[in-house]
Amino acid sequence: MSRTIGGVPQILLYGALAALLAIVLVRREPRAWLDLVNQTPYQQVSDLFRQSKMPSQAQKPRFRKIQTFRTDYAPATITQYESERSGMRVVVVDRKGPKINGYFTLATEILDNSGAPHTLEHLIFMGSKHFKYKGLLDKLAGRAYSGTNAWTATDHTAYTLETAGWDGFAQILPIYLEHVILPNITDDACVTEVHHIDGEGNDAGVVYSEMQALQYSSSELMDLRARNLLYPENIGFRYETGGMPEALRVLTPERIREFHKSMYHPQNLAVIIVGETDQDHLLEILDEFEEKIKDDVPPPDPKFKRPFVDSPQPPPLKETVVETVEFPEEDESIGEIVVAFFGPDCTDLVQATAVNILMTYLCGSSVSVVENVMVEKEELASSVSYWWDSRPNSVIWFQPTGVATEKLAFVEQRLISLLKEVASKPLDMQYIKECIQRERRQIKSQAEGSEQFYSSNIITDYLFGKRDGSTLAQLQALEEYETLEAWTDEQWRDFLRKWISDAPHVSILGKPSMALAKTLKDAEEERLAKRREELGKEGLEKLKERLETAKKNNEKPIPPEVLDQWPVPGTESIHFIESVSARSGKARSLGTPPNSAQEVIDAAPQGMPLFIQFESVPTNFVHLTIHVGTSDIPLKYKPLLPIFFDNFFNSPVLRNGSRVEFEDVVKQLESETISYNIASAGRIGDSEGVAIQFQVEREKYDTIIEWLHTLMFDIVFDPIRLKAAVAKALADIPEAKRDGRVMALEVDMALHLLPESYPVAKRTLVKALYFRRLKKLLETEPETVVAWFNDLRRSLFTFQNMRVLVTADVPKLSNPVAAWDKLTQNPDMDTEKDMLPVTKPSAMLSAEGREPGSYGSVVIPMTTLDSSYSVSTAKGLSSFADPRLPAFLVALGYLETIEGPLWNAVRGNGLAYGVSFTREVDGGYTQFRVYRSPDASKAIEASKNKIAKIASGEEPLDRHLVEGAVSGIVLGVADEQATMAAAAQQNYIVSVVRGLDPDWNRRLLAQVRRVTEDEIRKAITELILPVFEPGKSDVVVTCATIMEQNMVKALRNMGYMIQVQQLSHFYDDYGLKTGADDEGEGDEDEEDDEEEGSSVAVESEGSESDVEMD
Ligand SMILES: [Zn+2]
Repeated sequence: MSRTIGGVPQILLYGALAALLAIVLVRREPRAWLDLVNQTPYQQVSDLFRQSKMPSQAQKPRFRKIQTFRTDYAPATITQYESERSGMRVVVVDRKGPKINGYFTLATEILDNSGAPHTLEHLIFMGSKHFKYKGLLDKLAGRAYSGTNAWTATDHTAYTLETAGWDGFAQILPIYLEHVILPNITDDACVTEVHHIDGEGNDAGVVYSEMQALQYSSSELMDLRARNLLYPENIGFRYETGGMPEALRVLTPERIREFHKSMYHPQNLAVIIVGETDQDHLLEILDEFEEKIKDDVPPPDPKFKRPFVDSPQPPPLKETVVETVEFPEEDESIGEIVVAFFGPDCTDLVQATAVNILMTYLCGSSVSVVENVMVEKEELASSVSYWWDSRPNSVIWFQPTGVATEKLAFVEQRLISLLKEVASKPLDMQYIKECIQRERRQIKSQAEGSEQFYSSNIITDYLFGKRDGSTLAQLQALEEYETLEAWTDEQWRDFLRKWISDAPHVSILGKPSMALAKTLKDAEEERLAKRREELGKEGLEKLKERLETAKKNNEKPIPPEVLDQWPVPGTESIHFIESVSARSGKARSLGTPPNSAQEVIDAAPQGMPLFIQFESVPTNFVHLTIHVGTSDIPLKYKPLLPIFFDNFFNSPVLRNGSRVEFEDVVKQLESETISYNIASAGRIGDSEGVAIQFQVEREKYDTIIEWLHTLMFDIVFDPIRLKAAVAKALADIPEAKRDGRVMALEVDMALHLLPESYPVAKRTLVKALYFRRLKKLLETEPETVVAWFNDLRRSLFTFQNMRVLVTADVPKLSNPVAAWDKLTQNPDMDTEKDMLPVTKPSAMLSAEGREPGSYGSVVIPMTTLDSSYSVSTAKGLSSFADPRLPAFLVALGYLETIEGPLWNAVRGNGLAYGVSFTREVDGGYTQFRVYRSPDASKAIEASKNKIAKIASGEEPLDRHLVEGAVSGIVLGVADEQATMAAAAQQNYIVSVVRGLDPDWNRRLLAQVRRVTEDEIRKAITELILPVFEPGKSDVVVTCATIMEQNMVKALRNMGYMIQVQQLSHFYDDYGLKTGADDEGEGDEDEEDDEEEGSSVAVESEGSESDVEMD
C-alpha cells in the first residue's frame, strides 16, 4: 500500500476524459425496450432502478463487512465489504461535503497492443443489456446532478461517477454498473467509436484519432521504448493499453467482447465511493443489482487469478541500457530524457513511502540536490521531475525536460554521476527529516481536502494489496513516517544505492528530428495513397455506406417515456458546506454579517486596517490568500511577472541586515508550511490579479505573516537567480509554441484585449521576444534589470492593493487581526488611501474586443500541427446582474451537454474532438472554441447550423436535456464548493471579487429552475448566435500548413474577411529593445527567417494597425 500524493503520470492514462469525449452510440433496434418489457414485468424493472429506497422484503444484502475504521489524521471513516455472492469488492470513504465520487475499478491486464482495454472503456457508454440506447446513461446522469467519466491505465480501467448528493448517485449507480458488467457492444458502435475508413480512404474513429494524435509525441515514443526495455513480452506493463494505431486498424469487435468476458466480472470489480454515503441503501442497491445480473455472469471462480498479482513478475534489470529515441519535431534545439529504475513493492508501506521521501529530497524543489545542481546551478534542464508507478515491482522515473539536444547524453550521465555523488557522502539528515514532516503534513491536508487522496490509494490497494483487508487497514494511521524518522544516514544511503544510484537502469534520450517528421508524413501519405488505389472508387463508396449505416443505426432517439421512468432527484440530499464570513479593516466596508465569527473578529485586538476577509470552517489548517492587483504595474514591466513569480520564493533575502541565501529561504519555508504558491489570481475569479497562497498548520499563523513581510519587502533580486529563471522559461517556449490550441487563444487575446491585461502580457508570443532580450540585458546591464524588478515589487505591494483571505477555524486563531501588523508595519505603507478596485475583466477589452467583427478572421498555418483549432469571439455579457444570465447558462449547458446537440452534430460526425463555449459572465465577450479538428471551418459551420435551428424553434428543445442543463448548473455550484477551502474561497469570490450578495449562488439556482424555453431561445439568439456571424465576430484558426488554402476558402465563403499570418506576426516585445548588435545571433536569425516567409495576406482588409498590439 503506498500513499500516493500528487498526480498520476499523465502518459499512462488514456481518456481521463474519455466519457466526456466519447461518442456514445445506440443499437439500431429499439430492442432494448422490448427486452425490458418482455423479460421482466415493466414495473419491477423500473422500480429496481429507481432512486427510491426499497424496503428490503427479501433477505439482508449479502455483503460481508471486512472492516471499518476511522482515519486518525482526517475526518473520514473507511468501510470495506465483499459480496458473498459475486466476490465484488466495495470500499466506502464516508466524509462530509456536497459531492459523492464513485470509482468503479477493474484490474485489466492484456499482453498485446490491440487497445482492447481502451476501446472497451469507450464502448461501455454505448448502452447495456436492458438499456440499449446511446446516451441513456449520460442523459440520466445529466439530470441527476451527475457526471460520468473514465480512464484506462496500464493496469486498470476506472469508471467515475461524480454527483451532488446521495439521491442522484443512488439513482445512477445501478444503471451505470449494468453498463460496465453487461454492455451492449455492437459492430456498428465499434465502427464509429473504435476505427473505420471513411469515404476518402482516411482512418478515423474516436479511439483511433485519440491514439493517432499521441503516437508520435515524444513522451509516448520514449515511454513505450522504456517499457519495452523494462519488461519482457509476458508482462502486461509492457503494452500500450490505449492501442497502437496499426493494431486498432485490425482490432475486431470479437476481440473486444472476449476481453470484456475475461476481465469484466464482479469478482474483478471494486466499487469505491468517497462522500456522504447511505451505506444500508448502497448495499441494497448492489444486492438488487447482483440479483438482476446473476444469470448473465459466471459464478465466482474459486481459482480466480488476480491480474498482475498472480501473473509472472518481471525479471530484474541485468544491465543499464541507454538508448536514443527520435521524435518528429521541427525545432531541433530542445530534447528530453527519461530514466527508469525498478523500485520496491508498492504494498510495502515503509519502503514505498521511503521512495517518495527520497525523491522529494532529490528533486522536490529548487533546493533539492538534483534540481539545485542541474536546473538552478548548471542550467542543464528546465526541470527534473519524477514520478513513481505503484506496482509489485514499482518503477521510479526521473525526467529532465528542456535539455539542449546536443547535451542529451551528457545530461543523462550528469544525472547518474550526481546520484552517485549524493550516495557517496552523508545526506543532509536535517533536510530528510523536514521532507518527512512536510510530507506527513501534506498527507493530512490532502486527506482533508481532496477525494483523490482516498481514491488513488484505494485503487492501488485494490490492484495489488491483500484481499484480507490488511493492506487497506494501513490507511488508518501514518505510522510509517515514524519508522522513517528513525532511519539513519546509512539506511537512507543503502536504500538510495540499492534502488537508484547503483542500480541498472533504462535511459531514453528523446531527440527531436525534422527528418523523421518528414519521413513519417511521407510514409503515411504513401500508405493512404496505396490503400485508396487498392480500394478504388467502388471500395471507397462501400466504406462510406458502411459508415453511414453505422451512424444511422447508432442514432436512434430514446423515447421520452423511457427517460420519464426516472424522476429528477430532489436536492435535499446535497449538503453544502457552510463557511461563515467575517471582515476586518478596510473589508468592513463590504458589511459585517451578524454571526459568531464576526463576533470573534470584533472582540479580537484590532491592528492596522488591512483588508481582511475571514472564512470560518472547522478545518485543522489555515489557508491564506494575499490577493493583489496588477493595475499599478507599468506596462513595460508586465511581461516580467512570470520571472517575478519564479523568484518570489526562490531568492536570497535580507534579514537583520545580512543576506540569507535562497536555498536557506526555501528550506525554511518548506519546514514551516504545507504548501505555498504564487500565480495568477484567476482561480479566485480575478485573472488580472496575483494570488500568493499559503497552507499552514494553525500554530504557524503568525510565522507565515512574518514570512510574507520578508518575501514582499526584503527579497534581494539577484541577477544569477533571475538568469536561471529566464533560462528555464526560454527552454519551455518551443513546446508551448507547438500547441495549436494555446496559440489560437494567444492570438485571440492579442486581438481582443489590451496589452495592459496580465494574461496578454504573459503569453508565449511575448516571452519569445521579451525574454530573449531580457537574457541579453541581464548579461550586459544586470543592475538595470534588478531595478525594474524592484519597481515592479513596489507597484504590487501597497496597502491599498492588498486583500487578504484567511480560511481557518476562526475562533481557534489566537490573534487573528492584529497579527497582520507584522506585514504592514512599514514606513512606506499609506493606510489612508482608498482600496484600488479589483479590475473588471470587461475593462481590459481593446476597441476590437468591445465591438468584435471588423477584424474578421485570421488563419495561422503551423508546421507542428496535423489538425486545426479555432477561437471565435463576439460581444457577450459583461455583468453578473444581466437578467439574461440564468437563461444564458441553461442555454450553454443545453448545447454543450454530453449527448446534446453539439456533441452529436460535431463530435458524432467526426468534425472535432470537442467544441465549447466560455462562460465569461463579466468579460464582455462570448467565445466559441473548436478543439483538434480535421477541419475547424466545418465544425464551426455544423455548430452554427444546429444552433440556428434551435434558436428559431425549427428544432424543438428536448425537455430531458433542459432538465440536464439545469442539473448541470447545480453540479457546477457543488463542484465550486466541494471542500471547506473551496466553499470559503467561493464566498470571497462572490462578495469581494464580484461584489455580489452572499446568497447570489442560491438565488441563481432558483432562477435557472424557472427559465422558460422562450428565454433559452432568446438567449441563444442574442448571446450565442452572434459568435457565428461575420461582422459580429472574429475567428482565429491555427492549422496544419496543408489545410491553409481550404480554410481560407471556407472562411471567406462564410463571409469573413480573411488574412493569413505566421505566428511571429503576433510577437510583441512590449517595447523592450536591445540594440542592433543582437540581431546577428543565431536564435534571432531563426525568427527573422520565419518573418520573411510570413504575412501572405489574402484580402487583407485590415492593416497591421488592426492588430491591437502596443
Ligand atoms: Zn479514450
